[in-house]
Amino acid sequence: MSTQRIVVAHGDGIGPEITNAVLRVLQANNTPLEYEFVEIGERAYLKGHSTGISPEAWEVIRAQRILLKGPITTPQGGGYKSVNVTLRKALGLFANVRPCRAYTPYVASLHPKMNVVILRENEEDLYAGIEYRQSQEVVLDLKVVTRPGSESIIRYAFEYARAYGRKKVTCMTKDNIMKMTDGLFHRVFDEIAREYPELKSDHLIIDIGAARLAAQPEMLDVIVTLNLYGDILSDIAAQVAGSIGLAGSANVGQDAAMFEAVHGSAPDIAGKDIANPSGLLNAAIQLLVHVGLAHDAQRIRNAWLCALEDGIHTPDIFREPFSAQRVGTRAFADAVIERLGNAPEFLDALTYREGGIHIVPRALPKQEQKLVGVDVFLVWDKADRAPNVLGNQILQIDASPLQFKMMTNRGVKVFPDANAETARADMWRCRYLGENLAFDHVLALLEQINRRGIHINKIENLYTFDGERGYSLGQGE
Ligand code: NAD
Repeated sequence: MSTQRIVVAHGDGIGPEITNAVLRVLQANNTPLEYEFVEIGERAYLKGHSTGISPEAWEVIRAQRILLKGPITTPQGGGYKSVNVTLRKALGLFANVRPCRAYTPYVASLHPKMNVVILRENEEDLYAGIEYRQSQEVVLDLKVVTRPGSESIIRYAFEYARAYGRKKVTCMTKDNIMKMTDGLFHRVFDEIAREYPELKSDHLIIDIGAARLAAQPEMLDVIVTLNLYGDILSDIAAQVAGSIGLAGSANVGQDAAMFEAVHGSAPDIAGKDIANPSGLLNAAIQLLVHVGLAHDAQRIRNAWLCALEDGIHTPDIFREPFSAQRVGTRAFADAVIERLGNAPEFLDALTYREGGIHIVPRALPKQEQKLVGVDVFLVWDKADRAPNVLGNQILQIDASPLQFKMMTNRGVKVFPDANAETARADMWRCRYLGENLAFDHVLALLEQINRRGIHINKIENLYTFDGERGYSLGQGE
């Protein structure tokens, strides 16, 4: 059998102890892996590499593209960048995968039947980091949702569900409000779900979905969602499951992936041989499934569940009467190794499907994109901000073939014929629509507005795509 080469970084604090424990388990299982070691984290930071990754380590990671990483201590202050954010961005790791489950009665949890996996889109949404101050009063953050980005994470969620023998994938969005961005994510989910008829699929609005995750997590299985919602849901789920020290996590891209424990480098217990290596071991199990070594993943996972059931526990989860023997990091790894080949009696033994996790992006037909108007954003703070004063100035402009349609403030129509009671900030949007438009018409309009001394600070072109409106309506339009 051919071996898979992976990169291993021991990390900081308890990182070396738990990484060595995990490598011992992998080796005792004769897992067909070859290891290449790199040093990333504290030492690299202190040598002056602000990302915590030396150029040599980068070369190895870029060449091998599969990384098992111990936790990293991020030095306080001083312009250091997070290793995780750097890896995520540079390797295009679009999916964050966080399994959260209870292991009761061996580990206490409020929800003994909880067994949820959260797949969070990792690169887009409000985390694209495109923010602007627009005026004295207004700041904006661009929420970026793309079709390829949505397809990648959603397809990954269904492939993940298939590989791990899961039953249902739930999409969570707020598309009742954000009809374009979250609406696209939901629509792509519905399209892709049809390709996986053996899996159940449904959609929940994120607020009710989060409430359900906190109160009835046993009703959920695999959750796929946008970046911000996923960030919040992952923490709710980890807290509710009560097993953050046991959880692994994966950051996955089209042709690269990084696996790590959810917890940090725990400097308070480093070097004492008492850290629980389970989080990193579960991350290594995710790695094995990812690279198509499902059989090895299953053997190691089942041996680990047997050790938990037999009450062989590290101090962080030791609790009488469910624990029988308090052990350190090394002895816990020995206990897992002794149980390789055994299946648990009470905790669910897992069967992973062979084949690994691969996604193949679809090529989509291009739609006809037609310019049908423009939104011009103005900064204006005069005449008590009475909309009709600004509106009447705007009406004097001959914008033909563009026609002035309406003016909004904070998304609410304020001119003409509008509810003038809404509080008004110092940034206004004027909507123009027209037929047979070219961008020259937009430029001519901007020139006229500018000539009247009105401050333009932003425009958005309005398009249709195959005749379908590609912009939202104003409140009251
Ligand atoms: P932490 O997760 O390291 O520790 C929190 C508490 O949990 C501590 O009491 C610790 O002893 C305990 N703990 C953590 N892992 C354990 C394990 N495997 N076994 C037993 N007990 C364990 O969080 P922190 O103290 O906030 O962070 C410490 C350092 O880790 C910081 O520098 C932080 O930036 C870094 N960190 C790194 C990552 C990562 O590399 N992905 C994630 C989180 C934090």
